[in-house]
Amino acid sequence: MTKLATTLIQGSNGSDDAHTGAVSAPLYFSTAFRHPGLGASTGFDYSRLTEPTRALLEQQLATIEHGSQALATSSGMAAIDLVFSTFTKTGDQIIASDDLYGGTFRYFDTRKANYKIDYTTWDGRAIEDLVAKITPATKLIWLETPSNPTMKIIDIQAVATAVHAVRDDILLAVDNTFLTPVYQTPLTTGADLVVHSATKYLGGHNDILAGAVIAKTDALAEALRAQLTTTGQVLDPFDSWLLLRSLKTLSVRMHAHTANAQFLAKGLATLPAVSKVLYAGQGGMISFYLTENTDVNAFLQHLAVCSFAESLGGVESLVTVPDVQTHHDMPIAQRRALGITPNLIRLSVGLEDKEDLLADLTQALAAAGK
Ligand SMILES: *Cc1c(COP(=O)(O)O)cnc(C)c1O
Repeated sequence: MTKLATTLIQGSNGSDDAHTGAVSAPLYFSTAFRHPGLGASTGFDYSRLTEPTRALLEQQLATIEHGSQALATSSGMAAIDLVFSTFTKTGDQIIASDDLYGGTFRYFDTRKANYKIDYTTWDGRAIEDLVAKITPATKLIWLETPSNPTMKIIDIQAVATAVHAVRDDILLAVDNTFLTPVYQTPLTTGADLVVHSATKYLGGHNDILAGAVIAKTDALAEALRAQLTTTGQVLDPFDSWLLLRSLKTLSVRMHAHTANAQFLAKGLATLPAVSKVLYAGQGGMISFYLTENTDVNAFLQHLAVCSFAESLGGVESLVTVPDVQTHHDMPIAQRRALGITPNLIRLSVGLEDKEDLLADLTQALAAAGK
């Protein structure tokens, strides 16, 4: 296999050599595919099952995450639902790291209320504590690292080794939205499943809603595919094509996000309005706390380059307040225990000029002094 940057760019090149030699993959809108005869198929029958453009995307996603197969879904939440609806049933228990995307907790709560699939959380620190939470009902472990929004790091390999030593049929799933395969490939360090909100870095331009599940083995992938065919939350052809196009620049973008974020993490730490900066060292996500003397709303209103908007991973820099936005559905006591407070700001560092970004944050913070 070529190196990642090459694979990302060349992956779908040559896919149409049998017809036109197109360098950019063709986009097929057809929902139905003609059969050569009774019991015969071109490999494509009906687009909920498989579709040529989505199939190219899925091949590319599987390759870059080192999985056997991938499934492209209509959103990140659809990808999360695909994993849980395929592999968990009433009476099962799951264990999740405690600092997760807020929508994932909302999803776990509905599974608990409607299907009696219990979940418990682990603080992501001592692995013995995680192992102690495993019961005969434990079906799946769910991790997000670095965590969202407080940037805790979990050693995936250490978790995989400890969990699989207890029982090798417990599935380990990692939401790899923040670091992407440019910085982290969980399937090479013991995970069974990787999930993405491809709306974020994989898409990268704040213009595609998409998700993906990548499975380590064909057996896991076939179970997921059977469920996806049943429920139909697949990614449509046009968004599949856009995502395939976005992936070509993933490596370039991630390294540029990191360079900008490293610069801003340093710069923010020197500002009087900032009491603490949380940054994992790579990727484009930074969280920081404002001092008590800073008016959060005034800060948001004075931003001129960064947008106050609720997403991440795109070329445009976005600022959110997790306490009132992404994590608002989490009980307040849990938010406070995790350090999600009203003065915690999450910044998705985009690809604008780094000095423009620091100047924008600096002037907005200066204007927000109380
Ligand atoms: C946004 C996000 C999701 C949900 O994905 P959607 O594409 O919005 O459905 C899941 N996990 C993480 C880490 C996210 O940031």
